Amino acid sequence: MKLRRRRTLETLRPLLASAASMVEICRVHYFDHNATAPLAPVAREVWLRTHDRAWQNPSSPYGAAARVKVQLDAARENLARLLGCRAARVVFTSGATEGANAVCAHLARTLPPGARVAVNPTEHPCVLEAARFFLGDRLVWLEVTRDGVVSPRAVDNLLAAGGLGAVAVMAANNETGVLQPWRELAQACRRHRAAFFCDAAQWLGKLPAAGLGAADWVIGSAHKFGGPKGVGVLVAAEDAEDFHLSRGGEQEHGRRAGTEDFPGVAAMVAEFVEAETKKVLLETERVRWREEFERAVRAALPGAEVVGAGAERLWNTVSLILPHGDNTRWVARLDKHGFQVSTGSACATGKDGPSHVLAAMRFSPERARRAIRVSAGWETMEADWQKLAEALAAVSTEVAPSDAVVKL
Ligand code: PLP
Repeated sequence: MKLRRRRTLETLRPLLASAASMVEICRVHYFDHNATAPLAPVAREVWLRTHDRAWQNPSSPYGAAARVKVQLDAARENLARLLGCRAARVVFTSGATEGANAVCAHLARTLPPGARVAVNPTEHPCVLEAARFFLGDRLVWLEVTRDGVVSPRAVDNLLAAGGLGAVAVMAANNETGVLQPWRELAQACRRHRAAFFCDAAQWLGKLPAAGLGAADWVIGSAHKFGGPKGVGVLVAAEDAEDFHLSRGGEQEHGRRAGTEDFPGVAAMVAEFVEAETKKVLLETERVRWREEFERAVRAALPGAEVVGAGAERLWNTVSLILPHGDNTRWVARLDKHGFQVSTGSACATGKDGPSHVLAAMRFSPERARRAIRVSAGWETMEADWQKLAEALAAVSTEVAPSDAVVKL
């Protein structure tokens, strides 16, 4: 009896610990999930279990290691099924940045001489910088609408004109949450035999992934949706037999040498399955909470703007141009009130100059300097959004004169 109670307690301990850390996160009102999300309970539980029970090197020559290898391949199959691609295309990586660099390097090496690559200017810096470094003067910049959307028709025309070897457009923007028409773009690229590269780091785990396998290249990062940090996924093109992220071992079908992080992969895939089968069903309700938040902010802060308001956006993200004051002051004041938000992409924090995403959307530098990004998680509730709207109204009096505020 005692033994059974002890066992039950042991099983519950990790869950209780993760519930406690979730309570802690909710207490501080964490609204920066697009920078990184807290480890989700399912991911934490699987990560600890696999570290305890499946820690052997999958390449070692005995049964326990072979069983880890079988589980690693099962995780690959699961992920591939949800993305709609063959498991052989899936390479586990350290995150989206590694993937972006590898894809751009591969395109630079394998595209026919003179073939150009069209890139969306609102991409994450890991795609922009890698594209500039590896592809240099072969780049063509796509136009976006004022809402930050790439037009599939414009891309189709560009492809029809000839000379393009690849197109890079993300699935969802990390600063604004704006969704891109990646399905249409993938089809257009297929029609014109150009490669389509899609950074899905902010889409995976938030919206259904089905169909993403239609893109030739896809990248993602586990920590953006509640998996562990330092783990990611890359889907390679069907015909990219000579694609290598690194050399020196036969891991990942010889494409990425180095001992695999099976606990990290297992935790990422477990949380991804959880998101795909349960969490994404909550999307409609979450969009409504986000919209109510936007209405409340506009009512309380006349002159506040929602970036990309005319476009389809992630349920969790709002980029707000505030009516006055510098964004760093808003972020600092909100932090004092217990709300963690960001001025934009975490990677860009501390860099000089306004956001390149807002610049591409034709926001003046002055307006862009008044932008903050709030990004919720699945554990964020309607009441949290309401409290954030109230906090913005309260902070407004600290950042600028009180006559700019209407009481909520
Ligand atoms: N792509 C997008 C859209 C992102 O938001 C991020 C991170 O902010 C990345 C790529 C890079 O992800 P990681 O830092 O995990 O490599």
